[in-house]
Amino acid sequence: MKANFIVAQSAKTHSGSASRHCDVAVIGAGPYGLSAGVHLKAKGITACVFGEPMEFWAHKMPEGMLLRSPRVASSLSDPDGAFTLEAYEAASKKEPCAPVPLDTFVEYGRWFRHQLGSDLDQRTVRRVDRDQPGFRLTLQDGTQIRSTSVVIAAGIGPFKKRPAVFQNLSPQQAIHCYEGREVRKFAGKRVAVIGAGQSALESAALLHEAGAEVEVIARQAEFRWIGQHSWLHHMGPVSSILYSSHDVGPLGISRLVAYPKLVSHIPLGVRDKIRTRAVRAAGSRWLPPRLANVKMTRGRSVLEAKTTGDEVALKLDDGSERRVDHILLGTGYQVDVSRYDFLPPDLATAIEQFDGYPKLGSGFRCSIPGLHFIGATAARSFGPLLYFVAGTEFASRELASHLSRSRR
Ligand SMILES: Cc1cc2nc3c(=O)[nH]c(=O)nc-3n(C[C@H](O)[C@H](O)[C@H](O)COP(=O)(O)OP(=O)(O)OC[C@H]3O[C@@H](n4cnc5c(N)ncnc54)[C@H](O)[C@@H]3O)c2cc1C
Repeated sequence: MKANFIVAQSAKTHSGSASRHCDVAVIGAGPYGLSAGVHLKAKGITACVFGEPMEFWAHKMPEGMLLRSPRVASSLSDPDGAFTLEAYEAASKKEPCAPVPLDTFVEYGRWFRHQLGSDLDQRTVRRVDRDQPGFRLTLQDGTQIRSTSVVIAAGIGPFKKRPAVFQNLSPQQAIHCYEGREVRKFAGKRVAVIGAGQSALESAALLHEAGAEVEVIARQAEFRWIGQHSWLHHMGPVSSILYSSHDVGPLGISRLVAYPKLVSHIPLGVRDKIRTRAVRAAGSRWLPPRLANVKMTRGRSVLEAKTTGDEVALKLDDGSERRVDHILLGTGYQVDVSRYDFLPPDLATAIEQFDGYPKLGSGFRCSIPGLHFIGATAARSFGPLLYFVAGTEFASRELASHLSRSRR
């Protein structure tokens, strides 16, 4: 009932007052920012979430993509669990399907955001400065907002990895998977897809289906598929002992990473091993049939990539060469908070980090009082669940309780 009501409600955005103050400013309106905003609001905290809702999913993910996370791990978080993916499907009379299509997920997030009403401001934050005792945010139109705390939920957009060998190619020739939304424009083109993770393999399938001539080139000698031992997932109560419903990581590890607070107490070296093991490159189990007619070159690296006329010439480590029209980089991302362009260098360097990830304590606070990070940037502190939508539940509850306590 409650969920239906929200569908009909009109969204109030751009609250727009020039000298506004809020208790908490949340930067980013993706799954983490939206969920955090809703939890803060429920605690009676004056929060404002900035950014276009679901911008990264709507504009950067490849069109036609399917979510790799299972349905049960693809809901944003609200305190009563009333605004789940299922509630959206029921309210909008959509047939539930698995895997979840990208468009459904984007629409779901945009429906979810209506809970925020005027606490959502679609403007981009250009800059964050310390302004004792809190912060001053400058928005895209020059408006300044003061806030006691800032929560950075700005995602992984700026962290795209572009290996050195492709640095000299133009952005049209070497495109990152997270910018390859318009798959259809590659019809009839020769495309080399680099990588062996979900983004690379799903992009290869989508390009092939759109009529491109695709070759996947990966260093791995064998491709891995998530849920290769699917029988382990179909043993009823035994499976739920081995795997959490979030389905992040292999047998056993999956259970552990479902408890981010526990993970945060594990020594960093072991925590890093758990994290990298849980998110190592692999494709969804529904991808292999779609890749049956795609050329796969395993166990090879690209040594050289040069522009020759309209083409790119690639030299591989077995001495073979390729001529293609485009390279699609499924080379992942590397968290480095100093690459958030809204953080001025003095603020970014004052944040205690381990290799680009902020060191976070309880309530996701970093070494600068009042500054918090949620989402992928928190994965080094709280484990790999924070890379995924499934981590919104823990992040929002923990953050909202912490800020509510500190206000008191
Ligand atoms: C190809 C691909 C497939 C994926 N598939 C899945 C999946 O199936 N399931 C899953 O759980 N996870 C998946 N992920 C991981 C996914 O990125 C995260 O789960 C999810 O997006 C995390 O949400 P977020 O809110 O932290 O980040 P985002 O969704 O990236 O949201 C951050 C938002 O912040 C905004 N922003 C940035 N800077 C500013 C600013 N200065 N001012 C205002 N707004 C700003 C951005 O516009 C963006 O909308 C996938 C990732 C990729 C790249």
